[in-house]
Amino acid sequence: MTNASNPFRGRVAPSPTGFLHIAVARAALYNWLSARKLGGQFILRIEDTDRARYVEGSLDNIKSGLRWLGLDWDEGPDVGGPYGPYVQSERLPIYHEYIQKLLASGHAYETYYSKEELDAIREEVGEADPVTFNRRIQSMPEEEKARRRAAGVKPAVLFKMPEDGETVVYDEIRGEIRFPNKSLRDPVLLKSDGFPTYHFAAMVDDGLMKITDVLRGVEWLPSLPLHVQVIQALGWETPRFYHLSLFLDPSGKGKMSKRKGSNEYPIFVHQLREMGYLPEALLNWIALMGWAEASGDREVYTIPELIQAFDLGRVRAAPAAVDYDKAEWLNGVHIRMLAPDDLARRLVPFMQAAGFDVTAEGIAPMVPLIQERIANLTEAVDLLDFFFVTPPAPDPAELTPKKLTPAEVVSELLAARETLAGLEPFDAASIEAALRGMAQARGIKPGDLFTILRVALSSKRVAPPLFGAIACLGRTTTLARIDRALGILQPA
Ligand code: GLU
Repeated sequence: MTNASNPFRGRVAPSPTGFLHIAVARAALYNWLSARKLGGQFILRIEDTDRARYVEGSLDNIKSGLRWLGLDWDEGPDVGGPYGPYVQSERLPIYHEYIQKLLASGHAYETYYSKEELDAIREEVGEADPVTFNRRIQSMPEEEKARRRAAGVKPAVLFKMPEDGETVVYDEIRGEIRFPNKSLRDPVLLKSDGFPTYHFAAMVDDGLMKITDVLRGVEWLPSLPLHVQVIQALGWETPRFYHLSLFLDPSGKGKMSKRKGSNEYPIFVHQLREMGYLPEALLNWIALMGWAEASGDREVYTIPELIQAFDLGRVRAAPAAVDYDKAEWLNGVHIRMLAPDDLARRLVPFMQAAGFDVTAEGIAPMVPLIQERIANLTEAVDLLDFFFVTPPAPDPAELTPKKLTPAEVVSELLAARETLAGLEPFDAASIEAALRGMAQARGIKPGDLFTILRVALSSKRVAPPLFGAIACLGRTTTLARIDRALGILQPA
């Protein structure tokens, strides 16, 4: 059923049972990179057949997260495509049609046992003996079936696993794996409520959607033999399967899945977005958790570079530790790669969320002052706030460097005020030259003078580079804040 003329059709198939996790983002990214590189398609399919685990809001969270990352899907919800619908709960008639085919060909059978009875039989027979379990289920007497049918019991449909031989499967990352068929229990394909299980719906959809490459979490590897059996029973060609490794926590010892997106261990895309990560930095970081180029240790990639370099053949089986230090470092690198106007635009929502009514044009002049200094967008707020609102009055102790008296600070402030009041042009280079000249002429350490001014203007000791900041603040505001500091040091 795969389409030989198509180089690549990959899908990400999240269930709306939670927020967009970096593991799903990684599967989406590897698919998207392959599709973009090879001229294929990236498909989004929503696997929402498990009604009990549905989480309100998760579907929007998943779609908006993928869009924010820039992983646009060629087929799927909201965009459509030739093999839709792309939401499994809208495909129930399709699953029923293929169930009928498997029933007719003898690959599947109905059972009138309830889920609870199946669980009880499984327990009684023991995990180690699937064949006995399968035979027990298959051998419900016809009269009993008829009785239950008459009582209104709806059957579930199970797949009939072969009892002999072995199923040979191939994982593109790990190679060939052989499973003795007698080790496999007959899986449920269709539940008695008429909804398919993952085992069935995903295989039908991958076939009908002509998926060439299935990338999914390694937790599905044990189910691969039964998936291959189902695909073969449907008479379709098996796609290539890639089972992506788990994430480990930053220590590399524990499973990351145990950490449920705490602030210390953010694992959801929206969390990382709120923390001030750029989508291109996150994609760079996520790409490296499970893949590397043959040539070694390259770590920084733009998106076009990733598309060029990425190769599914180099995805690793070894689990990757989630390294937040690397994420932060990469984010800083990507922030520095942005055009200043672009960075200004991206800072707007963070400034607005902090209560500053700003535009990208309003922020743009200050961007060169902070671009080299921030590792995430949220850090900009603390560096830029004093440009947009008058900061709280500076603390006299902060204004007074060690070994200087308040009276000396007053005299320096007055001199600086005079220097700046008449300075032309009022730009960073002239301001620097004038203040350094003033420090030398007066015999004050330049560092002390700059500290006094920094605190007078921003009420902080750590602020963006002083001369550029003074130029951005402008003469009027600069002089007003110097006056305020003078007022604090010499109460009337
Ligand atoms: N709906 C499955 C899950 O969320 C998808 C697995 C797959 O990609 O096939 O785990």
